Amino acid sequence: MEVKVLQNVLKVNDSLAARNRELFNSKKVFAIDMMSSPGAGKTTLLEETAKKLAGKIRFGVIEGDLATAADAERIARQDVPVLQINTGKGCHLDANQIQSALEHFNLDQLEVLFIENVGNLVCPAEFDLGQHTKVLLLSTPEGDDKPEKYPVMFRQCSTILINKVDLLPYVPFDMAKVKKQIKDIHPQAHVIEISCRTGDGLEQWVDWIENQLEEFSKQK
Ligand code: MG
Ligand code: ZN
Repeated sequence: MEVKVLQNVLKVNDSLAARNRELFNSKKVFAIDMMSSPGAGKTTLLEETAKKLAGKIRFGVIEGDLATAADAERIARQDVPVLQINTGKGCHLDANQIQSALEHFNLDQLEVLFIENVGNLVCPAEFDLGQHTKVLLLSTPEGDDKPEKYPVMFRQCSTILINKVDLLPYVPFDMAKVKKQIKDIHPQAHVIEISCRTGDGLEQWVDWIENQLEEFSKQK
């Protein structure tokens, strides 16, 4: 019985997600769902991304958190259009919430939309939001066993950013082991090592965004 209910929920979600995707395509907005555990640095990465993309790419952000507008306030300080969704007890964003949030953006003025999902490595993987691609952020203090423990998430994300590499001397994190796990689970995944504190790898990340947008713009 429970399985049936969940399937129905996902079916409704999938059709709403397809509608969001159509809207993004018609407005030529490239949508990126960003996922990670809590505290991996999604909001900090978006702040740094805003600094690098200023004057280059027009983007907006949807922030998903259980409570507070703290992350949206941080993004707003970068002069980026942002909307906070508070999910209450909800541990993931769904396509319906994104549909409602999109009413608050002028999509004609955006090229990229980042959706910062609720910090959680489990169910955000199940809920299509209508994004074009999914990016996963894994930070070194979380430990080096996450890919093998959360394979569904790692399999779904086209790109995996390994954040906080500046902490590598201080935390037990075997980079080669993590990369091997990712290779086994998702051989095509693109992996970029970054540090939002030192700026390492951020140029590569910004190049990735620009390339993705260029490819997307070529599609009809
Ligand atoms: Mg955040
Ligand atoms: Zn959830």
